[in-house]
Amino acid sequence: MNTDVKKERLLIIGGGPAGLTASIYGTRAGLEPVILMGPEPGGQITTSPEVENYPGFPDGVNGFELMQKMIQQVENLGGRMVYEVVEEVDFSRKPYRVKSSGAVYEADAIIISTGASPRKLGLENEGRLLGRGVSYCATCDGAFFKGKEVAVVGGGDTALEEANYLTNFCSKVYIIHRRDELRATKILQDRVMNNPKIEIIWDSEVEDILGAEQVEALLIRNNKTGGKKELPVSAVFIAIGHIPNTDLFRDYLELDAGGYIVTDKNQRTNREGIFAAGDVQDPFYRQVITSAGAGAAAAIEASRYIDSYMG
Ligand code: NAP
Repeated sequence: MNTDVKKERLLIIGGGPAGLTASIYGTRAGLEPVILMGPEPGGQITTSPEVENYPGFPDGVNGFELMQKMIQQVENLGGRMVYEVVEEVDFSRKPYRVKSSGAVYEADAIIISTGASPRKLGLENEGRLLGRGVSYCATCDGAFFKGKEVAVVGGGDTALEEANYLTNFCSKVYIIHRRDELRATKILQDRVMNNPKIEIIWDSEVEDILGAEQVEALLIRNNKTGGKKELPVSAVFIAIGHIPNTDLFRDYLELDAGGYIVTDKNQRTNREGIFAAGDVQDPFYRQVITSAGAGAAAAIEASRYIDSYMG
């Protein structure tokens, strides 16, 4: 790491709902935190066209607009936002070091709010046809496939919600699930079962995504019979869970089996002065409101830690 080091009391890594809320609380506490906004300022929710469950917006709010408002709030409070991506950390000793695309920082306390990314099937054509029929977000891309037949992969809440949503545009939606039982909650299962536009293809996995310039079909293998078939569709929405963005931290922080940062109820990690909030440590709720709440708690705890550490 180079030697031109910026010294901070509190550094926040990641500019989604958790990080921005931590920035609001940290700034108001007088800590003058720097928030490194990362590769996706605003976080995953910026791609949601409609957020109906964030309190204070009785008519719902567009996800991008909601995050613009949070960013504006940080700005209005005099918060320090930096549009840099973290490349390397050294948490082996205090003060902790973070190297970003623009600078090297040393900080007394750190809040990690780097979120999560969609899990991929791992197929070669998945990357090649990304944005050309391969998508990880039905709410972002569904409207492009008006009147078309499409597929959703997965059997959890996200897959079923996306499938239901897609029936607003698409003529038919296949759900491809690898088992003969869905993981999703009962209410979503009922909705899917009662939706005449949805057909579930059980015990099946996508073996390949076919198409020269655009998705044209999926090659599907039945796990029980081993039989294969081509399913003509114009798009495939992959909804098979998320992977927390914790690669940078795995040498220093305790992670659970899913790769999520382990925190206690006060958002503390196993390393003193390092806190985590939002999807990076929460495999259960994954909501804007719970992420924001965790960000607030992390900033309050960081402030307490800095007071005692500096005192
Ligand atoms: P999830 O619950 O982990 O479900 C992932 C699904 O993808 C599972 O059905 C899984 O199959 C399948 N899958 C995983 N890897 C696969 C692979 N490589 N190939 C094929 N299929 C694969 O993920 P999620 O649906 O994103 O939900 C995550 C969390 O958010 C859950 O706690 C969920 O309740 C919550 N959530 C809540 C709401 C809501 O309350 N409205 C909405 C969305 C999400 P198996 O079932 O065989 O493991």
